[in-house]
Amino acid sequence: MIIAANLKTNLTRKQTQEYMDALESFLNAHDISQKVVVFPTASSLNPHAGKLTVGAQNAYATVNGAYTGEIGLEQLEEFGIKTILIGHSERRHILGESQEQIMKKFDFYKALGFTIVYCIGEPLEVRESGDEKMAEYLDAQYIGIDVHYANLIVAYEPVWAIGTGLTPTLEDISSLHLKLKEKCSAPLLYGGSVKVTNAKDVLALDGVDGILVGSAALNVHDMCTMIGYAQELENIKK
Ligand code: PEP
Repeated sequence: MIIAANLKTNLTRKQTQEYMDALESFLNAHDISQKVVVFPTASSLNPHAGKLTVGAQNAYATVNGAYTGEIGLEQLEEFGIKTILIGHSERRHILGESQEQIMKKFDFYKALGFTIVYCIGEPLEVRESGDEKMAEYLDAQYIGIDVHYANLIVAYEPVWAIGTGLTPTLEDISSLHLKLKEKCSAPLLYGGSVKVTNAKDVLALDGVDGILVGSAALNVHDMCTMIGYAQELENIKK
């Protein structure tokens, strides 16, 4: 399974290093074979040798250049970053990233062989407008995206569930994931208010290949607990 932590605009460089060190110790001490990915702030990136993968929360579709406030490939390469989060709802809705910009970013980092964690998800008003509208909305988030890209991981994150403590029912998550998998067979993570108290149930669902966690991942002990659940579930399956 894949357990990913989106640290968003949280933790300093020093705190992030402590976080990574604590996670690495846990992964080694407990013989964890799950894929663990951490997306720290751009200013906390560092070369990392170990079991966990460090990814970028964002980067511009450029090697370098005149894009004030952005980082590009050159800055990612300095730290050996080969994983990127694209299409997160906070970038779509708060920072106004369009599907066209997202497509360009996707194509650029795909051509470089990056692992792309590609986020999709609907706002509440779309969910409330019925299944057909919701399917149309999610389909539109796949426009221009190569769903057959070998290094693609998709994260389904309902916008209304992010950071709110609200989540779809377990049945809803599972049935939607199974539907989404018909469109794209890449590993599919669920994200949106996953925490220690619901992670095990979510991870156990059919169609769920892992979780993308924001708020709850900021507590490294909670992050370790959720990784431990994924390992337990996989050990049972064996
Ligand atoms: C996220 O932003 O990707 C996320 C899942 O956040 P939270 O876990 O806080 O809902």
